[in-house]
Amino acid sequence: MTVTTPSQEQQLVLQACRGLAANGLGPSIGGHVSVRVPGEERYWTNRLSRTFEEMQLDDIVLLDFEGRSVDPDVVVSPGIGFHHGIYGLRPDVGAIVHTHGYWVTAQSAFGREPRMLHNMSTYFHGRTAIAPDDEIDAIAPAMKDGDVAIIIPWHGAITLGATIAEAAGLHVTFDYACRLDVSLSGDKEVPTMPDDHAEAVQKLLTKANYLQLAWDLMVRKGERCYDGQVVVPAPAA
Ligand SMILES: [Zn+2]
Repeated sequence: MTVTTPSQEQQLVLQACRGLAANGLGPSIGGHVSVRVPGEERYWTNRLSRTFEEMQLDDIVLLDFEGRSVDPDVVVSPGIGFHHGIYGLRPDVGAIVHTHGYWVTAQSAFGREPRMLHNMSTYFHGRTAIAPDDEIDAIAPAMKDGDVAIIIPWHGAITLGATIAEAAGLHVTFDYACRLDVSLSGDKEVPTMPDDHAEAVQKLLTKANYLQLAWDLMVRKGERCYDGQVVVPAPAA
């Protein structure tokens, strides 16, 4: 009997799926997470057939930069192409998260980066691309070096990081920033952080360890909410 040891990247994708699910970002089919294999033109990602809440290690599969698996029966999202598209364009990106989370998708309908309504929103200040579609041909001209988020109007969003801790930590933070923006988009004009203030906070956050801590929390939450079969999301804070 051959015993195969799951690769570290495969386990990280599963942890991310469960952490996203614990945060209410995984109830439906359609999101995808990937982690690049360092030094290779390959990455691990999740199959299409399960939600983040349901994901198991066997559902995390290895693809090449054409989006192909060695196993012909593996079915991934038809929208997977932007993962290897972005990895090809951005050597600094080692992990990618895409969801259709409720607040993320609502924000995408506004077609703008989240307004600066909280310190954590500043991660995305001037670093959010708006791409008309999820094809890499639409993302490439919209995305600049250093961008950490991509909004696809009426669809959802993508976050990017050097590591899965960054990409997933940013996604949960983006969801929070979007929730603030969308839920405060009523009749009343809400004051937003001035640009110079936002830039100063962004610099401060870059030095902080917040995204790693956010990731550690995601992993703990994912484990806590997993009942042995599925992740039962924690109630929204
Ligand atoms: Zn999508």
